[in-house]
Amino acid sequence: LPKIRAQNLPDYVPDSKFYKVEAILRPWRIPQVSSALLKMGIRGVTVSDAKGFGSQGGSKERHGGSEFSEDNFVAKVKMEIVVSKDQVEAVIDKIIEEARTGEIGDGKIFLIPVSDVIRVRTGERGERAERMTGGRADLNSAV
Ligand code: ATP
Ligand code: GLN
Repeated sequence: LPKIRAQNLPDYVPDSKFYKVEAILRPWRIPQVSSALLKMGIRGVTVSDAKGFGSQGGSKERHGGSEFSEDNFVAKVKMEIVVSKDQVEAVIDKIIEEARTGEIGDGKIFLIPVSDVIRVRTGERGERAERMTGGRADLNSAV
């Protein structure tokens, strides 16, 4: 499978210091995606079971003109990763690299501006709260 990247790097609107990368992916690809993220220093990840329909699921129902029923939702996993702006593209490209099969149903990634991050244990906010010990920023600044 040839490697691809997200196309045409945009100027994110609205501009923010932090973004949430929200990826809806095939459940069986999640172990591969999360271990690759860990390897690149992404240590804060939230995962939940989800179900939905895109072009992969629910099409039969829509063509039939009848209401969709919950039975036709396809099982997915929602992965949420809050990172600093400069880490967004690396995370997106890693998710594509690890989650892509090239078949319909590989999923979708949404990018959402995040106003602030607060660490409950310490009350830290902003960059201090978003940074993780041994995280990507640490790895990149290490000599
Ligand atoms: P502490 O240093 O107090 O342990 P922490 O920053 O490591 O704080 P946790 O308390 O371990 O944060 O995080 C709790 C949960 O929050 C994690 O299990 C994960 O689901 C979620 N989480 C933490 N950071 C992120 C992040 N950057 N993006 C998405 N989810 C995160
Ligand atoms: N940006 C953080 C860091 O470099 C990592 C964020 C995350 O793991 N989601 O430490």
